[in-house]
Amino acid sequence: MTIAENITHLHQKLDPQGVKLVAVSKFHPVEKLAEAYAAGQRIFGESRVQELLAKRPLMPDDVQWHFIGHLQTNKVRQLVGNVSLIESIDSERLLDAIDAESQRKGIVTRILMQVHVAQEETKFGFSPEELLDYFRSRKFESLKATHICGLMGMATNTDDNDRIRQDFTTISRLYHEILNLCPDIRGFDTISMGMSDDHDLAIECGSNMVRIGTDIFGNREY
Ligand SMILES: *Cc1c(COP(=O)(O)O)cnc(C)c1O
Repeated sequence: MTIAENITHLHQKLDPQGVKLVAVSKFHPVEKLAEAYAAGQRIFGESRVQELLAKRPLMPDDVQWHFIGHLQTNKVRQLVGNVSLIESIDSERLLDAIDAESQRKGIVTRILMQVHVAQEETKFGFSPEELLDYFRSRKFESLKATHICGLMGMATNTDDNDRIRQDFTTISRLYHEILNLCPDIRGFDTISMGMSDDHDLAIECGSNMVRIGTDIFGNREY
């Protein structure tokens, strides 16, 4: 199938369910992004700051860029102002750096808090307990130019569907617990979970944003 067909198919499936599609275009050339754009795709996900900044001026202005990779504090200055959503906030220090830079630029940056639930040592993110503490103590109220729009998470990389379902359910429950703790929090409406292999399960578990790369663009050449 072509990239355009993949995009059309995914939108036919996801749009009626109210699930947003992030086309994960990391490591793919801008020609492929243009094909997806021509088929109607507007949200693109990148995991490296330099790559996002290189592609951004080559694509139309109405593209919404999502940053989905591990973000180093020393790259915050370059990224803030150039993305519509940073999905991968994995520390309070990073969040504070983004808030400071957003204030300096006079803009509001939208972010998701990344939750770590997968059974892997190397994954980034807050533990569920850390996130509950963060919201219970209402630390988000000190943010002046950053809007927390929800959670992003990944399931364990395994063929075991029960395990995957368990991870997605944990993230979904956590999201609702946070809403219960802070019923007055505004615009906290996004659960970003699910990739090429597991997005159907993720949606069953409550995801309303999926990040799909391989199923759209094919395998990445690193
Ligand atoms: C690369 C990546 C994806 C896309 O993975 P696919 O299996 O190619 O769909 C989704 N989310 C994150 C955070 C990624 O880094």
